[in-house]
Amino acid sequence: MSARERILTGDTPTGNLHIGHWVGSVKRRVELQDQHECFFLIANLHAYTTRADTPQDIHRDCIEVARDALAMGVDPAKAAIFLQSETPALAELTYLFAMLLPFNRVMRNPTLKDELQVKGLADNYSFGFPLYTVGQTADILAFRAHRVPVGEDQVPHLELTREVARRFNKMYCGVPDKAPDEEHEQLGGVFPIPIADVGEVGRLVGTDGVNKMSKSLGNAIHLTDTPKQVKKKIGKIYTGQDSRDPNDPGIIDPEKNPLFQYLDVFVECEDTKRDVRDRYERGDNIGDGEVKMLVADAINALLDPMRERRAAFEDDAVVLDILKQGTARANEATEQTLQMAKEVAGTGFFPRSVRFED
Ligand code: ATP
Ligand code: MG
Repeated sequence: MSARERILTGDTPTGNLHIGHWVGSVKRRVELQDQHECFFLIANLHAYTTRADTPQDIHRDCIEVARDALAMGVDPAKAAIFLQSETPALAELTYLFAMLLPFNRVMRNPTLKDELQVKGLADNYSFGFPLYTVGQTADILAFRAHRVPVGEDQVPHLELTREVARRFNKMYCGVPDKAPDEEHEQLGGVFPIPIADVGEVGRLVGTDGVNKMSKSLGNAIHLTDTPKQVKKKIGKIYTGQDSRDPNDPGIIDPEKNPLFQYLDVFVECEDTKRDVRDRYERGDNIGDGEVKMLVADAINALLDPMRERRAAFEDDAVVLDILKQGTARANEATEQTLQMAKEVAGTGFFPRSVRFED
């Protein structure tokens, strides 16, 4: 990694952050903020893809997600946490980039297909739903970000972003066709080709044991859950038939039991983990109950300091002020990029800046 890079990533305000966010992306953000220029987006416009009928919920969740990020250790003195809707360059670049992507290419995105399926949208999704993936390319490129710390599900979006950046640089900045990604900027391209920085666990499974843990699927352990709720959610994890050896139902295959991912990720003591696994494999009398207790305690130990920090940001006004300052910084960065992009794309007429009222 270079000494100081631009980092961009974010979350949709569709509910409180969960432990999947922590292991997939936020932990990495907290590490990166010390040395790099970090921007963390709250993608509230994208939340309208599934919640356009409940704007008050989206509004509330913007504050909740910011509060959760602060609780997890994002430091507003180092990183800018900002609102998508108040950063107009993002929407303007979305429009420009939408022209650079074939429609079929957007629809081929596997994460998009997956989301339409698990969110039960079938043929009933809005025109804006696929557009959000184009919007995400703008969110990243508007910062001329080098690195994007994300979970595995976001990798296809990143690939789309890289394609847009390459196409833009070639079409409008004269970057040669076969130029290597890392040379685009030197060769006059407006955009660096960003890379995905997948967290230590790319996909934490949800408590349903099937889908990715997601805010909007009801299968998540949230930072806002009480210790009792965490125990209850872990207790309800179904580890039934699938984890049993078909030839000998008395033996449980730890690899097929979702609790084992949690054991691996959240329990720190290597000896304990090994011991539990060995006993499972031997078919010893170790019940799910014992593993569940171990896992719930470990998750609560991770969340305890976050719960404490969260209490310090209880006041909405404090969080809103952090968002306002972060968004002002985001506007500074993105207006500059927008101006550069407009100049080469033929729409650069009247330079401007964005300013909020006091
Ligand atoms: P939604 O259900 O609204 O899509 P989500 O829980 O998937 O919400 P996002 O806001 O879409 O959360 O994702 C924010 C970031 O957290 C992304 O980088 C994403 O890859 C990462 N992330 C989300 N869930 C997980 C998970 N279960 N494991 C690892 N990373 C995750
Ligand atoms: Mg998601």
